[in-house]
Amino acid sequence: MSLPASVSGVLGNTSLDRFDALIVGSGAGGSAAAHVLAAAGWKVLVLEAGVNPFPGLDHSGHIPWPLFSNDEIKNALRHFVYQDPLLEPRTFRQSESETAQAHPDVNILTRNVGGAAVISGVAYPRFTPVDFRMASALSAAGRNYPGTSFADWPLSYEELEPFYTEAECLSGVAGDTTGEDDNPFAPPRSRPLPLPPQPPMYVARVLAHGAKQLGYHPYNLESAINTQPYDGRSPCVSCGFCSGYGCPRNAKGSPAVTTLRRALLTGNCQLRYHAHVSRLVRDGSGRRVVSVEYIDDNGQMQSAAADHVILAASPIESARICWLSGITDAGGHLGRHMMFHFQTTGVGIFKQRLHGERGRSVTHVISDFRGVKAGGAELRSDWPHLAGVVEFGTSSQPIIAARESLRPEAVGFARLFNVSFKQLLVESPFHAHIAVLIMQGEDAPQPANRVDLDPTVRDVFGLPVPRLTYRNHAFELNASEFYKPKMLELLEAAGAAYGFFQPFDPAVPPASRHILGGLRMGTSPADSVCDRFGKFHDLDNLYCADGGVFVTGSGYNPTLTIIALALRLAGALVSPGSPEHVLGCASAAG
Ligand SMILES: Cc1cc2nc3c(=O)[nH]c(=O)nc-3n(C[C@H](O)[C@H](O)[C@H](O)COP(=O)(O)OP(=O)(O)OC[C@H]3O[C@@H](n4cnc5c(N)ncnc54)[C@H](O)[C@@H]3O)c2cc1C
Ligand code: SF4
Repeated sequence: MSLPASVSGVLGNTSLDRFDALIVGSGAGGSAAAHVLAAAGWKVLVLEAGVNPFPGLDHSGHIPWPLFSNDEIKNALRHFVYQDPLLEPRTFRQSESETAQAHPDVNILTRNVGGAAVISGVAYPRFTPVDFRMASALSAAGRNYPGTSFADWPLSYEELEPFYTEAECLSGVAGDTTGEDDNPFAPPRSRPLPLPPQPPMYVARVLAHGAKQLGYHPYNLESAINTQPYDGRSPCVSCGFCSGYGCPRNAKGSPAVTTLRRALLTGNCQLRYHAHVSRLVRDGSGRRVVSVEYIDDNGQMQSAAADHVILAASPIESARICWLSGITDAGGHLGRHMMFHFQTTGVGIFKQRLHGERGRSVTHVISDFRGVKAGGAELRSDWPHLAGVVEFGTSSQPIIAARESLRPEAVGFARLFNVSFKQLLVESPFHAHIAVLIMQGEDAPQPANRVDLDPTVRDVFGLPVPRLTYRNHAFELNASEFYKPKMLELLEAAGAAYGFFQPFDPAVPPASRHILGGLRMGTSPADSVCDRFGKFHDLDNLYCADGGVFVTGSGYNPTLTIIALALRLAGALVSPGSPEHVLGCASAAG
């Protein structure tokens, strides 16, 4: 088979025409799997629906600069790489009895080579040991939550640890695991992080001061951001446009410039972008995927084949591709147990300016509100609620902030204090003077929270769009209420003149960007869709390498765990029985 002429964009080895593995999606999970497989000599085809902001990514030598810039209009307002909700909408409802409505942001991610991690804050903490056995821990503590589907993962933290170490080495994770800013809640690790920690943002210093006064433990969050030259990439210059933006300097160790680039440079990998996968075609037995259909940039249907097929399109899209292909599972778990992290956002207004225009997006956090003891192995009994890491942030985008100043609340505020709009922009209380605490609360898995196909709404390709049915559980709502006064106390201790919380509206779809579940892993088809590595129980050559396989969501940012699991899955394909044998980065680093 030769490469179809109508495919508009290809990276890597364009002469490959037979593939051992086909990967759907080039994000954190797909790129990590591509790296391991291509390094082992497998011929890999990656199909990516999105655009390519990394021209020349497959050239050896110096990595060319990408098409990103510190431009709010281009990135945040014109959605340079985001999925366009007009062309590819999603629908949302809170319960089965409602008719789902199209909404512009049902947790949309980006559509680009390298996936959403390219524009993320690349906060890359590990989960902790108790996260992998949460059902047992809750049960032992006598905590029962009717309607939830907590289960233990079919693997332990210890089993994943070498893959975490490898993911940190490949991505270039910076942080502090020893010293003054140490995190007592960190799990055990076999190697130190490859890079020294980020310089603290000013807002982080201010909030850390308040946190320490209250006995909390602020620390330098692990982030895949170069604090010094690493892996041929430049160090960060604290440009201020980090989370939500691609890095113009390639200082973020995102999948595109780390694992994907490595895969492309082996000569064993070909990536076709603008390739929107619409269906997996199976053989007569229904157990083998024999080809994958996709729509190219010209709207033409194309087909590709490989011995193994790996879904890594992010959980909502991976589940949708299964539904579009008529795939079901014996246990009825497909698309269910969706989790998003319940974000509680506390805002403090300070007299002084907090200088969010310099720095990354977040350098410091506390894990005290996770509800887990030091070492991360056991639940705290004194605080009976599990929430998550609390990020110390601020506002760094003046144009977005100015637009926010046109909201009725801000206009009302200006009228009340007799302030002109111009003065409001100069003083910018909701920009230059705000500190923001974002708590990433654990979101309880529930079978009723699910993705399926909307019966009426179709996308630009004529395909049924994903429909999300989702309602929060008291598990995360009560945790949020429990920690809110403590967040307010922290803001006050740091010097905030006053603080408030962003209101929660259950009618608005969750938009945390941490999308997990739907293809959960487990020990048997009765309790899960995939096995302990991510292979579909009911199919012989189909796998999942994105957050779909997560059993529970923890209270930590998920992407490092997605990468570690994808490395482990690919390792198991290449080296069954000893997947860790394929790990090379950490051991080469010495
Ligand atoms: C602003 C922002 C900040 C974030 N900050 C953090 C953070 O600091 N830390 C953290 O851990 N996480 C963060 N996240 C979340 C993080 O980006 C995701 O966890 C991560 O990208 C998930 O990786 P993935 O490979 O599963 O999915 P994705 O990154 O979404 O990759 C999936 C890829 O598949 C492609 N695709 C989808 N459908 C198809 C199809 N039908 N055919 C072909 N290709 C398809 C998509 O275009 C995409 O490139 C953030 C996200 C955003 C948006
Ligand atoms: S803050 Fe640093 S890592 Fe983030 S986009 Fe700017 S230069 Fe890149």
